[in-house]
Amino acid sequence: MNRKSFLKTGLLGAGALFQIPFTGQRIPAQAVFESFAEAPDSGTYDAIIAGGSFAGMSAAMSLGRCMRKTLVIDAGLPRNRRSPSANNFFSRDGQNPREIAAAAREQLQEYQEFLYMKRGEIASAAPSGNGFVVQTAEGQQYQTRFLILATGLTDELLSGIDGLEDLWGNGVYHCPYCHGWENRNRKTAVIGQGAARLSMASTISNWTGDITYFSQGEPVNFPAEALELLSRNGIKVSYETVYKIEGEPGALRIRTREQTEPHLFETCYAPGTLRYHASLAEQLGCDLTDRGAIEVNEQYESTVPGVLAIGDVCSRGNGQVIHAAYSGTVSAVRVNFAFIRERFS
Ligand SMILES: Cc1cc2nc3c(=O)[nH]c(=O)nc-3n(C[C@H](O)[C@H](O)[C@H](O)COP(=O)(O)OP(=O)(O)OC[C@H]3O[C@@H](n4cnc5c(N)ncnc54)[C@H](O)[C@@H]3O)c2cc1C
Repeated sequence: MNRKSFLKTGLLGAGALFQIPFTGQRIPAQAVFESFAEAPDSGTYDAIIAGGSFAGMSAAMSLGRCMRKTLVIDAGLPRNRRSPSANNFFSRDGQNPREIAAAAREQLQEYQEFLYMKRGEIASAAPSGNGFVVQTAEGQQYQTRFLILATGLTDELLSGIDGLEDLWGNGVYHCPYCHGWENRNRKTAVIGQGAARLSMASTISNWTGDITYFSQGEPVNFPAEALELLSRNGIKVSYETVYKIEGEPGALRIRTREQTEPHLFETCYAPGTLRYHASLAEQLGCDLTDRGAIEVNEQYESTVPGVLAIGDVCSRGNGQVIHAAYSGTVSAVRVNFAFIRERFS
């Protein structure tokens, strides 16, 4: 396979590691891994990008256009891989995320003289000379001046709810800014413990006036007036514990331990706990936020010179594709500017 077709087929591989639940379609793993069999240069790169999804590919495009020799290493598990649409992405609203990624890959071919791609996971990173050395889980080592972390995060789903994983991203959601419009005016369940989730229910009331918040058996220590205010805004509080969700988008059956008959809903939000993929940043001594995101400034520079972090994994992330793409561009400009500044100083 030549380099051009390698670039073209590579990102479609993002879906290869799992069964896509809403279509049942599976990309043959063999084709995917064959397409990544071509080893990238083993020399020194201007930039290495850990993670080749929306943030990483966007940074790669800008760096390619700046003629910076760049290696993208991507484990191929983007956060929204179970979702059939990426909503609220200007000019791509509602498009399948895999199609967006495939289009990005296609466009990156223009810059293939400078861009190198590899399917894999960067397992470690350490300072080395005037830059960094990274090592993949398979043992390959690469040297780079700048390291851009675009590794995203994992939504650790609420435990003890059968069927939640199957409906995740396609019937059960995490964010009304991504899915509120498509689910407006629907009978909605919000599942979760704690004031943060209850506060999310009040945000969702922007889109629907029929919300039941399931506290999963936890007491809601709100004064009566606060509960009355929730009720006036269409939010009922249930102390029942959800243990199963069945059905399909638009027609969900939510089973609780307290009732024999299921509750019927049209949609559901059940945000999980965010686990930031920040282990490389930790190894390098970058500061993290209390929640575990990589601390960055407005230029997406971490607290360790030469290490940048973009997309969902960084402290400025807002959990949306358009921010991931934007941050990729800003970080690439920063890296390129650093090279230019060196030449003129
Ligand atoms: C169910 C669901 C639906 C969503 N719907 C929308 C929507 O409609 N609109 C919207 O704007 N946003 C949506 N989002 C949010 C969106 O998925 C994220 O904002 C976006 O994916 C962030 O892009 P990213 O590039 O930062 O991270 P990701 O897309 O998560 O990509 C990170 C990449 O880095 C790779 N990686 C991780 N660690 C390593 C490593 N050590 N080495 C190499 N590679 C690594 C991962 O495998 C992955 O490929 C949704 C999220 C979920 C969970």
